[in-house]
Amino acid sequence: MQATERAAKKSATVKLAAMKEERASRMVDGLRGAGLKLTPQRLALVRELAGDASHPTAQELFERLRPALPTMSFATVYNTLAALSEARLCATRSLMRGPVRFDPKVEPHDHAVCGDCGRVTDVPIPSVPVRKDGERARRIEGFSVHHVERVYRGICADCRPK
Ligand SMILES: [Zn+2]
Ligand SMILES: [Zn+2]
Repeated sequence: MQATERAAKKSATVKLAAMKEERASRMVDGLRGAGLKLTPQRLALVRELAGDASHPTAQELFERLRPALPTMSFATVYNTLAALSEARLCATRSLMRGPVRFDPKVEPHDHAVCGDCGRVTDVPIPSVPVRKDGERARRIEGFSVHHVERVYRGICADCRPK
């Protein structure tokens, strides 16, 4: 790897870590604002979700954290996530059948969903030409469009036959 490439990679990692920290601290403030007690369980959940790009379900987060926090209940996971999405500090996504998924990235973006393994990948909006759909959506009679969310369905690189 070239030195410049290495430096770029390192700065991307640093940026990602900073974004995670910023999200986590906003989430902690949000929970405090919602009157929830900041227990170690809730703080661990916030830390887990803030850096998670996999769009996990509540159950997945619960199972991931349970080994380290055996006394945590599913209700705690659920009510913490509910408070965060109520405060718009995480987004809920219904991208496929099954339980809702939680997304720490609240900025507008699209999603690509693998029909085989169910993996959900964030798609930055500017990477795909959107004008046509966006224009059409803005003309829905009597309906005010705030934003357009797209879901690209297909097969991910890991599931595609080699
Ligand atoms: Zn896949
Ligand atoms: Zn997302």
